[in-house]
Amino acid sequence: QNTIDKIAAGEVIERPASVVKELVENAIDAGATAITVDIKEGGTSFIRITDNGGGIYKDDVKLAFLRHSTSKIKSVEDLAGVSSLGFRGEALSSIAAVAQVELITKTAAGLTGIRYVIEGGFEKSMEEIGAPEGTTFIIRNLFYNTPVRRKFLKSPVTEAGYISDLMERLALSHPDISFKFINNGQIKLHTSGNTKLKDIIYNVYGREIASHLIPIDADMGVIKLEGYIGKPVVSRGNRNYENYYINGRYIKSGVVSKAIEDAYKSYMMQHKYPFTALHIKIDGEFLDVNVHPTKMELRFSNQEDVYKSICSAVSEGLARREL
Ligand code: ADP
Ligand code: MG
Repeated sequence: QNTIDKIAAGEVIERPASVVKELVENAIDAGATAITVDIKEGGTSFIRITDNGGGIYKDDVKLAFLRHSTSKIKSVEDLAGVSSLGFRGEALSSIAAVAQVELITKTAAGLTGIRYVIEGGFEKSMEEIGAPEGTTFIIRNLFYNTPVRRKFLKSPVTEAGYISDLMERLALSHPDISFKFINNGQIKLHTSGNTKLKDIIYNVYGREIASHLIPIDADMGVIKLEGYIGKPVVSRGNRNYENYYINGRYIKSGVVSKAIEDAYKSYMMQHKYPFTALHIKIDGEFLDVNVHPTKMELRFSNQEDVYKSICSAVSEGLARREL
């Protein structure tokens, strides 16, 4: 069991940023409106994630760390319409297999909070303690028991950079949630949680980009688009500034990128990659999210339709632009 968990963990947890991604997505799924991520040494020695979401019931705490245990899917039919970010029940078991994990959680109904410690997949303790409503995870010494994996990590500065990029994408993906990111005691990002997408773009990318945005707002029936595309002056030579979220999830998709770029090319006469911050809503039936555990790649059940809808939605927005 423990060995299997360690191997399985390799698929989901590659580096500190993967831990942060999984735990923040869990916090979002738990309905949190404020999430704080605090790291030291690039997250290799210390990651603390605090949320004000629903918490975990006492009886569910141990269960949450079992492989394939998820509270988010009740049946196979549910899979097609998954709207929560997580659903495989692999993250907590994977993280606990390769790190020292401390969990403090309290539900609204719980009389006290619970503190649970699990290291390398082995339970250390579980006790009742006072705690505010919500959940805190502390992850210490990632890969402490898998030295080979630990050796493959980059420098703390580089690992912190990955987490910083991730926090920016998460902030852009949920303007309604307040995100705080603290690196070695310094606040690196703080969003208020009731701002507009544009304010977060300003916060993350600065004035230059925020003042050169074209709003996109299109409803194509099964596909809806909302957000911004940068004017040509702030275009890039690569796809690094292409951010888009499908049903709230940050993903990479050749089809989506191509659709945006093609629309941009024909309207802007420009062969560069546009700055993009787009929220795309697609009916669950068009999605196959069950492709890879980290869910960064998405497959569509009808690529052609998705391409056409996004391309014409973006085109429509660009056609109405004022340059
Ligand atoms: P998944 O997200 O795929 O369900 P995880 O291993 O990430 O699987 O989490 C297991 C379960 O633990 C979740 O289904 C959820 O019930 C619970 N859980 C994890 N993190 C939180 C959190 N921050 N707040 C409330 N519940 C949580
Ligand atoms: Mg999860």
